[in-house]
Amino acid sequence: MCGIVAYIGKQEAYPILIKGLKRLEYRGYDSAGVALLDGGIKTYKKAGKVSELENFVQDKDTRGNIGIGHTRWATHGEPNDRNAHPHLSQDGGLAIIHNGIIENYTSLKEELIKRGHSFKSDTDTEVLIHLIEDVLKKANVPLEEAVRIALSEVVGAYAIVIVSKDDHNMLIGARKGSPMVVGIGKDGEYFIASDASPIIEFTKNVYYLEDGEVVYIQDGEMVVKTIDNKVRNPYIQELEMNLEALEKGGYEHFMLKEIFEQPRSIIDNFRGRIRTNSSQIVMAGIDQFDHKFKNLNRILIVGCGTSWHAGLVGEYLIEEFTRIPVEIEYASEFRYRNPVITENDFVIAISQSGETADTLAAIQLAKEKGATIFGICNVVGSSIPRATHAGAYTHAGPEIGVASTKAFTAQVTVLTLMALSIAQKLGHITQTRMQELLTELESIPEKN
Ligand code: GLU
Repeated sequence: MCGIVAYIGKQEAYPILIKGLKRLEYRGYDSAGVALLDGGIKTYKKAGKVSELENFVQDKDTRGNIGIGHTRWATHGEPNDRNAHPHLSQDGGLAIIHNGIIENYTSLKEELIKRGHSFKSDTDTEVLIHLIEDVLKKANVPLEEAVRIALSEVVGAYAIVIVSKDDHNMLIGARKGSPMVVGIGKDGEYFIASDASPIIEFTKNVYYLEDGEVVYIQDGEMVVKTIDNKVRNPYIQELEMNLEALEKGGYEHFMLKEIFEQPRSIIDNFRGRIRTNSSQIVMAGIDQFDHKFKNLNRILIVGCGTSWHAGLVGEYLIEEFTRIPVEIEYASEFRYRNPVITENDFVIAISQSGETADTLAAIQLAKEKGATIFGICNVVGSSIPRATHAGAYTHAGPEIGVASTKAFTAQVTVLTLMALSIAQKLGHITQTRMQELLTELESIPEKN
C-alpha cells in the first residue's frame, strides 16, 4: 500500500514529513525518502525503515517549508537507495513521489530516451517525472498544465505529489486508483497524504480527492480540477475521528479492522506481480531460479503456527499446479532432527515477523546442507529475509490482533502466485488456463 505525505506552509516541513511517514508505516513498505524545497531541491532516501532514513538525515540540512515524503513498496526495480523516491526530472528541477504503477512506462521510456533523456533508477515513477518535464519544455505551458497533459498519456494507477524548484509556493497532487487526502491547515498551510493519519494532529478539515482529480496548491490557495481540465468544487469535510480511532479505521477493534483489510492486502499482493495482458506472474525472487525448478527433488515448506497452516494450503496448491512433490514441516521439529536435505531441495520458510527463532534455525540447517532457501515474510528487513537466498514479502502491514487474519491470507496469496509462476516455468499450465486463473484472481472484490 505504501504512503505519501507532503507539506506546504510556514512550519519546517521535515519533522512533519518524518512523523507522517511513521504514521503510515502500518501500510507496509521497503524504503523511504523525502525532498525538501529551500532554494534548490534536497533529496534524502534510503532502503529500509523510516528510522534508518532519519538516522541518515541526522547531520544533513533539512531546512525548508515545502516538502514531500514517501514510503515505497517496490514494483519496478529493486528496493534499494537508488530506486527509493523522490525521483527527479532530467534537469533536477522537479521532484515526484508516487504510489502505484505506470503500466505503459516501457513505451514512454523508450520515447523519452530517443529524445535524449537518461534515467538514474529502474522505476516507472522516474519515467513519469521525465515525461512531465518533456511536456513542460515542449508545450511551453505552466507546470500544472504539463502535469495534466502528461497524466492523460499515462495508463496505470497513481497517487503523486510534485514540487518544482522554480515554484516555491506550489504543491501539485493527483490520484487515480490510489488514495489521497488534502488537509487544509491554518494560514494557507496544506498537507497531502495517503490517509488522514499524518494530518489529523494539525487539522481536521480535509478533502478526499476523487479518482482522476488533480489538486494545485499555490500561494495558500487550493484548486481542484479533473485531468481533462474541468474545475471542481471540493467538498471539505470535518473529520470527527481522533488519531486512535483513525488508526483503527473506524472499527471497534484492530482484529475486526484486519479482517476487513483482507481484500485490500490480497489485491496489494497482486500489484506489480500479475500481468494479466501477457498472462504472466512476475516475482523476481522466483524468476532468478528458473534453471533450478526443472531438476528439483522436492519443495519443503517450514514454518510455525499460522505460517505452518498457510504452508498446508501451499502444499496443495504447489503440488496441484507444478507436479513437484511438497513436504511441510514444523520448523521446531525440523531443526531438532537430522532431516535428509540436498542441493536439489527448495525450501520455503514462512514467517509473519521474519524473526521466528525455530524457523531461522531451520533455515540455517537447510542452508548448511546446500538447499536453496526462499522466504515469505511480512516484516521488511527482518532476520529471515536477510538469511534467505531470495523471497517475497507479503506486505500485509502490521497485524495488531493476536489471532492472525490478513497476514495468513497474504501468505496464502503469495504461495498461490508462486505455484502458478513455477507451473508456468515448467510448462505445466497453458496460456489460456493461466489467463483464466489470473482474471479470476484479479476479480476478487475489493470491498465486501
Ligand atoms: N511503482 C513505483 C516504484 O516501483 C511506486 C511503488 C509504490 O507504490 O510505492 O517505485
